[in-house]
Amino acid sequence: MIYLDNAATTKPAASVTQAIISCLTEDYGNPSSLHRVGLQAQLHIDQTRKIIADSLKTEKETILFTSGATESNNLALHGIAGSYGKRKKRIISSAVEHASVKSTLDALEEQGFEVIRIFPGKDQRFHAEDFIQAINEQTCLISMMYTENETGRLLPVSDVFRSVKKKYPAIITHCDAVQAYMKYPINIRNLQADLLSLSAHKIHGAKGTGALYIRKNIRLMPIMTGGKQEKSIRPGTEAVPLIAGFGEAVQLMQKTISDRLMQTEQKKTYLLNLLSAMPDIAINSDTDSRFSSPYILNFSVKGIRSEIMLHYLESKEIYVSSGSACSKGVNSGVLHAYGIPDQIADCAIRVSFSEDTTEQELSALIQAIQSGLHELIRKK
Ligand code: PMP
Repeated sequence: MIYLDNAATTKPAASVTQAIISCLTEDYGNPSSLHRVGLQAQLHIDQTRKIIADSLKTEKETILFTSGATESNNLALHGIAGSYGKRKKRIISSAVEHASVKSTLDALEEQGFEVIRIFPGKDQRFHAEDFIQAINEQTCLISMMYTENETGRLLPVSDVFRSVKKKYPAIITHCDAVQAYMKYPINIRNLQADLLSLSAHKIHGAKGTGALYIRKNIRLMPIMTGGKQEKSIRPGTEAVPLIAGFGEAVQLMQKTISDRLMQTEQKKTYLLNLLSAMPDIAINSDTDSRFSSPYILNFSVKGIRSEIMLHYLESKEIYVSSGSACSKGVNSGVLHAYGIPDQIADCAIRVSFSEDTTEQELSALIQAIQSGLHELIRKK
């Protein structure tokens, strides 16, 4: 099988699975228990906390475990709104955020917050000035994703956050870095993010765990009540096996960030060249590597709806995503935000690479698209 849906989820690494199994079978204690078995479990959490903190060049006390980035984003946005949003009611974000940010902002808007969603320019790129200009005295939070997950476009997060912190240090900055973590080196101090959301299953860890970086002295109103775990900000018995696997995944992936970046850029260029030679293809991603992640390529096979092509490719054991729908076939509107016409967006396919992706697999994809075009258009 050819798996090209790594932005949806990745295959857990063998050593990650091993770490998880060993926690389930041996170190299965409750980390809150005061005895040795509990302590052993707690050690796994401490270790992963330190690994993630080191990877961001920060202190381990700033890392909080959650059930995944959806929860991290909810906690970040509701938490800041609860702590800093009593009088300051403006929140600035982009128009292409993941559903877990988008829907949370919609909910905050219903509660009386003023949410400003910044759109890309005519060049389909985001411009830092547009975010900065939207700031006023009432602004409590700015939330921007690092790599947009449908087309792989990069947002000017560090430009915006640095200039926000220079001019308005009281405004809290949040970044959903799910599609960037372990793909780009992230130095939290350079990025100037107060909060950063991460997910394990996008980096060869397991589904069901993630983290939120919370800069020291930032107050977050919890969204759940319960025990004293994770400083009571995120109560509930920690998912020790998944967290241990998360640590293993980070250790594994961080060794190869820059090499992988280069190799993936080559793979994307290879596919892009093949696609560009085909008359029925429209490229929806930004082809300039300064503005786009090499890990994601979005294109449309004109005249064939996404789901039809997706299932055709599936019949050839090639697995991709439909490029305009993040969640169970619901159109997210992200391609629309870039001004991509509906008839092109309806045919969008997202291919997302991993270190295991080969040029042979990409040629097989092209051949399958060509035969799909032939068979599916003829059937119409
Ligand atoms: N943000 C982005 C950019 C994502 O791609 C995803 C996963 N689709 C999430 C947040 C949600 O992550 P999780 O699956 O860990 O809840």
